[in-house]
Amino acid sequence: MAATFAVDLLVFARIIAAVGISDRDRKILWSRSHGLCAICRKPLVADATEGDREAVVGQEAHIVARSTDGPRGGQIDQALVDCYDNLVLLCPDDHTIVDAQPKAWPAEKLRQLKAQHEAWAKKKLVDDSQIRVVPHPDDPELPGGNPLLRITTGAQVWDIMAGAGRYWVTGLDDEDTGDPELVDLADEFLQLARDYGEISRDIEESLGQVRNAKRTLGTALGELERRGILAFGLRRRRILKGGHLPPAELADAHLALVLSSNPAIMEVPVEAEADPGLAEQAD
Ligand SMILES: [Zn+2]
Repeated sequence: MAATFAVDLLVFARIIAAVGISDRDRKILWSRSHGLCAICRKPLVADATEGDREAVVGQEAHIVARSTDGPRGGQIDQALVDCYDNLVLLCPDDHTIVDAQPKAWPAEKLRQLKAQHEAWAKKKLVDDSQIRVVPHPDDPELPGGNPLLRITTGAQVWDIMAGAGRYWVTGLDDEDTGDPELVDLADEFLQLARDYGEISRDIEESLGQVRNAKRTLGTALGELERRGILAFGLRRRRILKGGHLPPAELADAHLALVLSSNPAIMEVPVEAEADPGLAEQAD
């Protein structure tokens, strides 16, 4: 019984070998190789031209040939010859060279090359997908860095915070004020402003709710001013860039609370102060 079973397996193995490279192995090979030749890293899909479709020039080359007489032949089990482990993605030129000169290109060298190439491609994918934020072309850096402008109304706070992608808020600290109650008051305001910024998209359809939000912010701002705390803010346009996604615009909302006695407060031209939400248009 044992002998019959062994013969059946061998027949089965030959059938698998005759089927060729499976879709699954092919997909793994192409994706892990990033669609590039493992030797010269040339792209293996030629772009479409006007009237012509893309051309696939990549070749799934055998590390150990299917035929025992072929390049590097006879070094692995026939059942494994078409598996991903025995394939390397190459351009036609490099495929021709490695098969014509198998002594210069032994199986171990090709396996090593493939592993190095796939590790490089994986790292490249990760690098590409890293998201970064860059300045919007219509919103150049202001001279003197990014001066935050004085804010005196709830509507100004709303315009800076509403729908922003990122929030940069700065409060007071105990050392500056010597009064923990003031510090807490400042933090509460910043939290309120940020909360409104985050829910702004949900309530912007309702004029009444937006008006209430601006009034609440304005009242809180007035209370801060009575306690000697001034608000400064700025909204900047930014572009969010990722490796695989189209660039998207987002806004940075800057809001800071400062003691009115702080020597860092300086005078700026009136037109810039008039509308902090549009500060990027200031000269
Ligand atoms: Zn190549």
